[in-house]
Amino acid sequence: MFYLDLILNLALLVALSVISGFIVQRWPKQTRPGVVLQGLLFGAAAVIGMLRPLDMGGGLIFDGRSVLLSLAALFFGPWAAAVAGTMALACRIAMGGVGAVMGVSVILASLGIGLLAHFRRKRIEEPPTAGYLYRFGLVVHLVMVALMFVLPAGIAWSVIQRLGPPVIILYPLATILVGKILSDQVAAARSVEALRRSEEDWRRLFEEHTAVKLIISPETGAIVDANQAAADYYGWPRDALRRMNIAQINTLPLPEIMREIGKVQALQQTCFEFQHRRADGSERDVEVFSSRITIQGGVFLHAIVHDITDRKLSEARNRKLQEQLLQAQKMESIGRLAGGVAHDFNNMLALIIGYAEMALARVSADNPLHGELSEILAAGRRSADLTRQLLAFARKQTIQPRVLDLNETMAGMLKMLQRIIGEEIALVWKPGAGLWPVLVDPAQVDQILANLAVNARDAIAGQGRLTIETRNVTVGGTQGVILTEMTPGEYVLLAVSDTGCGMDQETAAHLFEPFFTTKEVGKGTGLGLATVYGIVSQNNGFIDVSSRPGQGAEFRIYLPRVHAVETADTQEAAPGPSLEGRETVLLVEDEAGILALGQAILTQYGYTVLAARSSREALEKARNHAGPIDLLITDVVMPGLNGNGLSRAVAALRPGIKTLYMSGYTADVIARHGVLEEGVHYLQKPFAVKAMAAKVRRVLDENSAGAPGSSA
Ligand code: ADP
Ligand code: MG
Repeated sequence: MFYLDLILNLALLVALSVISGFIVQRWPKQTRPGVVLQGLLFGAAAVIGMLRPLDMGGGLIFDGRSVLLSLAALFFGPWAAAVAGTMALACRIAMGGVGAVMGVSVILASLGIGLLAHFRRKRIEEPPTAGYLYRFGLVVHLVMVALMFVLPAGIAWSVIQRLGPPVIILYPLATILVGKILSDQVAAARSVEALRRSEEDWRRLFEEHTAVKLIISPETGAIVDANQAAADYYGWPRDALRRMNIAQINTLPLPEIMREIGKVQALQQTCFEFQHRRADGSERDVEVFSSRITIQGGVFLHAIVHDITDRKLSEARNRKLQEQLLQAQKMESIGRLAGGVAHDFNNMLALIIGYAEMALARVSADNPLHGELSEILAAGRRSADLTRQLLAFARKQTIQPRVLDLNETMAGMLKMLQRIIGEEIALVWKPGAGLWPVLVDPAQVDQILANLAVNARDAIAGQGRLTIETRNVTVGGTQGVILTEMTPGEYVLLAVSDTGCGMDQETAAHLFEPFFTTKEVGKGTGLGLATVYGIVSQNNGFIDVSSRPGQGAEFRIYLPRVHAVETADTQEAAPGPSLEGRETVLLVEDEAGILALGQAILTQYGYTVLAARSSREALEKARNHAGPIDLLITDVVMPGLNGNGLSRAVAALRPGIKTLYMSGYTADVIARHGVLEEGVHYLQKPFAVKAMAAKVRRVLDENSAGAPGSSA
C-alpha cells in the first residue's frame, strides 16, 4: 500500500513533465511567459502531491515536492521557482500540523539548491546528464533527510529509519527520470529552434538580398520561387511570379530558353545575356548568373538577374560617338580636298569660259566654229555649276542674298527636283498668289530643296508624291503663333511634304543635329537637314516639321518678308553701251592665264589695264603710274600680301580708289562667316565676260560716298 502510493506520486511527476514539454515547445527560448507557466505547472503538481501525500501517520507527510521544486528551479530559473514555491508554501502552511516547520524547510531547501545549480550551470549550454541529475537529486534529498532532525528527537529517528533508505534511493531516481525527460525536451526544442533559425537565416539570404533572384524548375521552366527584389523588379507580386513560367519573362521562345537551361544543367555555361519583359511591358537587357542547386532532393536553377540596360545604352552611345567622330573627320578631310580641288579647277574654268566667250564674240553665227565654241562654253558653265556645289559642300561658298520671288526661283528648279526624286514620285507644285519677296541666296534655296527632295525620295518606297507649296503667312502677337520661338511678323512659307514613311518622335527630336541619320552607313550623312537648318537660320528664318510614322512628313520653312525692294544683283547684266569705260584699272592675279583673260576682257571694253602678277608688283605700279587709277581688281588669296591687305596699301597711296575682289571662294579676309560685309564688291570666279564688265561698270559708277572702295 505504501509503495503503491509512492508509485502514484512518481507517475504524477512523469505526467507533469509531459505537459511541461508542450510549454517548452511553445516558448523554446524560456521567455517570461514560458517560465511563469512552468512555475504554475510545477507549483500545481507540488500542491496535488501534498494533498494526496504518503501519510506516515502523526501528521507526517511526504511527497514529490522536493523533486518538483528543485527541478523547476534548476531548469526554469528564479521566476518559475518563485511561482511554484509560493504555491507550495501557501498550501503547506494552510495544512498545518507537527511537520509544518519541516515541510516549509524542505520546500525552501529544494528551491535553494535548485537555483544554486541553475545559476552555476547557466553558462553551460548542454542539458544536464543522467549522472549530474543523480548527484543533484542525492544532494537535495540528503539535505531533506538531514532536515528531519528538526522534528522531535524520538519521532525523527523512527522516521529516518522507516523513510531514509527509500528517500535516498527513490527520490534521486525520480529526479533522474523527470530531469532526463525535461532535459530531452529542452534539448529537442533548442535544436528545433536552432534549425529553424539557421533555415531562416539562409532563407533571408535569398529573400532579403537586393539582387533579383529566381528559382526555376529546369524541366518546365516554371518559376518555383522569387524574392522580393524580383517582385519589385518585374512588377509582379511574388505569388504571381511563383505561378509564372520563365518564358513569360524571357523574350526568347521557350525551346530556346530550355536549350540555355540545358547548358546550365550540363555545367557548360553560367552567365547569360537575355532580354526580360516586365509587368508594364517594358523590356530590359539583363545578365543572368545561373547555377544548379539541389533543394530537398530536387534539382533547380538558382538565377541571379542583373539589369544591364543602362550599361548597354552607354556602350552603344560611346560606339555611336566614336562613329560620329570618324564620320566628322572623314567629312572634314573630304571637304578640305574638295575645296582645294574646286579652287584650282575654278581658275581653269575661268579661262575656258572666258576665252570661249571672247572667241564666240569674234565669229558670226553662220561660221561653222560658232556651234562648236558654244558647246565648249556650255560645258564650261556646267562644270562651273558642279564646282559651285563642291564648294557648297566644303562650306566655302559665299552667300550673296538677293531679293527673290520664291515662286520664280522654284519654277526654275522643278526640273532639277524631278530628276532628283525620279519618275515614280509625282511632283506637285502649288505656288501661292501674290507672294512677298524674300532676301536669300538662290543657291541656298537650291540646297534646301535638293536636300528635302533627297530625303523625301529616301522616305518613299515605290510610288508617292512630293508637294511643294508657297504661301504668305502673318504671325500675330497672340493669335496665329506657329512656332513658339518665332518672332511675330510677316513670313513667306515654303512647305515641302511627302507621302513617305514618316518618322517617330525620337527621330523628330534629333532631326537637325549634324550627323543624325537613321540610314545605313554609306547611305546617309546626317548633314542634309543640318545644312537646311543652318541656311534657314542664317537667313533669319524658322523651320518646323510635323510627321507621324507611316504618315509622311511635312517640312515648313518660314523666311522673313523683305520690304526694301533692292535691284537684283544679276550676274548677266543687260548688254548695252553702258558696259564700256575709259577708266584705268589695276588688275592683280597670280594666275597668269586669268590675268591675261581679265586684261583682254577689260581692254576689249575700253579700259586701260595695269596688270600685276603679285601684290608687290601691284604696289609698284600703283606708286609709279603717272595718271589716275580708278579701280583695283584683285584676287583674294595670293602669296604674300592678300587681297584685303593689298587693298588697304593701295588705298593709302591713292585715296578714293575702289576695290573689286575676285575669288573662287571667300576666305575670311573679305567675309565673316561666309557672308560678305556690306560695301565689299565681289566677283565670283569663274566669271563670264559680260558679268565681269557689268560688275566693273557698276562698281565704278557707284556713289563713292555711299560705299567705301576698300573694306575697312
Ligand atoms: P540623312 O538623309 O543623310 O540621313 P538628314 O539630316 O537629311 O540626313 O536626315 C536625317 C534623318 O531624318 C534621316 O536619316 C531620316 O531618318 C529623317 N528624315 C529626314 N527627312 C525625312 C522624311 N521626309 N521622311 C522621313 N524621315 C525623314
Ligand atoms: Mg538627307
